[in-house]
Amino acid sequence: MAIIMDGNRLSRDVRNHVTSEALRLKQNRGIVPGLAVILVGEDAASKIYVKRKESACKEVGFLSREFRLPHDTTQKKILQIIRELNHDQSIHGILVQLPLPGHINPDTVIETIDPRKDVDGFHPWNVGRLFSGDPYHIACTPRGIVEMIDRHGIEIEGKEAVIVGRSNIVGKPLALLLLNRHATVTICHSRTKNLSEVTKRADILIAAAGRPEMIKSGMIKDGAVVIDVGINRLDNGRLVGDVAFAEVAEKASHITPVPGGVGPMTIAMLLVNTLKAASL
Ligand code: NAD
Repeated sequence: MAIIMDGNRLSRDVRNHVTSEALRLKQNRGIVPGLAVILVGEDAASKIYVKRKESACKEVGFLSREFRLPHDTTQKKILQIIRELNHDQSIHGILVQLPLPGHINPDTVIETIDPRKDVDGFHPWNVGRLFSGDPYHIACTPRGIVEMIDRHGIEIEGKEAVIVGRSNIVGKPLALLLLNRHATVTICHSRTKNLSEVTKRADILIAAAGRPEMIKSGMIKDGAVVIDVGINRLDNGRLVGDVAFAEVAEKASHITPVPGGVGPMTIAMLLVNTLKAASL
């Protein structure tokens, strides 16, 4: 039976560390880290994520400013808010919750954020820094995954890492992070042929496809480390990942649960990035 990588416990450790560092920053330099979160529209999942991010900020003693804007807010208005926040000394991190309504260009919005305040790590400047092996702000989910692997003492160097999913927010940045840590990295996607032939090679397998329980035990190698990024709501209301947890846990050496795995680590890394932005 695999070791369960408990994201709730690990993220609590990270949050405790952030809390004491934030206190030190306040005492020594009078700085309170501030995060601005912009939410446009009424997407139910986005509202939940934003609420979690805000309460995490408050818990560690950060300032949290929320901008809840109606669905029909113009792009011009959003850009104006971002430009003001770029110059606001009390705000060190700016986050625009994705997805945005169709009339807004997410690239334009992200490129308007001051890259040093881009705590999501989505600005091309941050993507480029990661690409060149000298990252500044690293996207929170990939960073949280690597943190989980490290905190379990699992070696990355020289390992076969296979990532299922090539999105800009998970698969691609994670591939670069693991490559920077000297893994041999393969990215699979919806048009990959013979997926299970590839996934079976993985010492470290990361599933980030958004397909409920698509990774079965027959697709993994004995003793693999299996990280499940997927969050899928079934028709019966149950929340499951991309990995068939019960059967894969029989064969893996380590596995993350859903919920309580990668999700809490993502939020913890947002706090770490915001602390970094405030500390510089
Ligand atoms: P996305 O839809 O942008 O990308 C999905 C990727 O999976 C694509 O590259 C696609 O080619 C690939 N894919 C889809 N079906 C496939 C298949 N059958 N075989 C192989 N590849 C396939 O998704 P995303 O934004 O990267 O998110 C992926 C999942 O992770 C979603 O369930 C999302 O909710 C979840 N997620 C979780 C967190 C977290 O903090 N836990 C953060 C981000 C995303």
